[in-house]
Amino acid sequence: MSRRPFRIGRAKTGLGLFATKPIKKRTRIVRYIGRTIPNDVAERLENKGARYMYELNKKYTLDGSTRANVARYANHSCRPNSESLIYRGQVFIKSVRNIEAGDEITYHYGKDYYDAYIGKRKCKCVTCTLRRARERLASKKRQARRQRAAAKLRADKRKAASRRRKRA
Ligand SMILES: [Zn+2]
Repeated sequence: MSRRPFRIGRAKTGLGLFATKPIKKRTRIVRYIGRTIPNDVAERLENKGARYMYELNKKYTLDGSTRANVARYANHSCRPNSESLIYRGQVFIKSVRNIEAGDEITYHYGKDYYDAYIGKRKCKCVTCTLRRARERLASKKRQARRQRAAAKLRADKRKAASRRRKRA
């Protein structure tokens, strides 16, 4: 591989990987490295707070927590531009779209990880941030509609009362 097409930089969730030049779709960008450990050992480490465990198969997990593993800085996204895959026993982050220089390199961490550690409410990916903003706006609009309806009801009641007073 030539020089890395990315750098480590500041992202919304701490550090992230950012493309330093255009990356073509289906490029193996970086290898996810670490020691191979049995799954039960990985599970024990995970229970103690370890992250970056990448399950390879029914027996083994890659412990990617070493600092040498720059791939671990790639953040999760619900609509990522890359994916992680196992190729001949090695794990790679591979682009699934053309990536522009400056774009953050992201991949989906998988449903289990997402459900356990991220979740719809906390996910800081662009997709989820926009969704939550839309939801907040919709709920504000609903609230405004309710307030308008309530104000109209009060106004109608006042009018009806004043009509009654005039008739009396
Ligand atoms: Zn998300």
